[in-house]
Amino acid sequence: MAADGERALVLFSGGQDSTTCLAWALAKYRHVETVGFDYCQRHGVELKQRPIIRDKIMRLMPQWPERLGDDHTIDLSVLGAMSDTAMTRDVEIATNEKGLPNTFVPGRNIIFLTFAAALAYRRGLKRIVGGMCETDFSGYPDCRDDTIKALQVALNLGIESRVVIETPLMWRDKAATWALSHELGGTALVDLVVEDTHTCYLGERGERHEWGYGCGLCPACELRARGWREWRSAA
Ligand code: ZN
Repeated sequence: MAADGERALVLFSGGQDSTTCLAWALAKYRHVETVGFDYCQRHGVELKQRPIIRDKIMRLMPQWPERLGDDHTIDLSVLGAMSDTAMTRDVEIATNEKGLPNTFVPGRNIIFLTFAAALAYRRGLKRIVGGMCETDFSGYPDCRDDTIKALQVALNLGIESRVVIETPLMWRDKAATWALSHELGGTALVDLVVEDTHTCYLGERGERHEWGYGCGLCPACELRARGWREWRSAA
């Protein structure tokens, strides 16, 4: 695929969705940088997977090593310090009366995208790529398409720039995300996603399932496993 001349920044956590987004960006843009946020998440293991995934993913296609640029990590431990959620504290994962899981970290994506836009501005990156998804998600209001579009407007006004936030997974369910990995990088990319990406909220990497590592029970594992089964049965 001919690369778009644009330079992109991928919000890259080391999970399945952001790894798929990284492959999507590498296939599309001539220069791609990555950013990761450390907010004392319980599944901090995913941050450790980031350099491993970056190193492996760029070898999947001949053009990708020259397209993959710098990696940035931003310390947002303040987010962990101020939020009392199951994502950052050792409490049981549950759903509140509004149907919102207590893994929701209020303001997380808003803060991520704001920092990403500031970084993109400094680095001359015109596209920000994120794995937010409204189709098959845990009900997080900051993953909604309208939230992202509103943020894009606010950020562009606030920093006088023209950044486009791309969300290739917004209307894809988890089965379609697995299918997209296969489309972008074949079996090699699917294998990389299974083996090296991390999704489990509990940071569990003990047991290897056919869909990858995880506790198998938390909402993130459930979504990932169900998507895998749906994709496999449709393939
Ligand atoms: Zn899990």
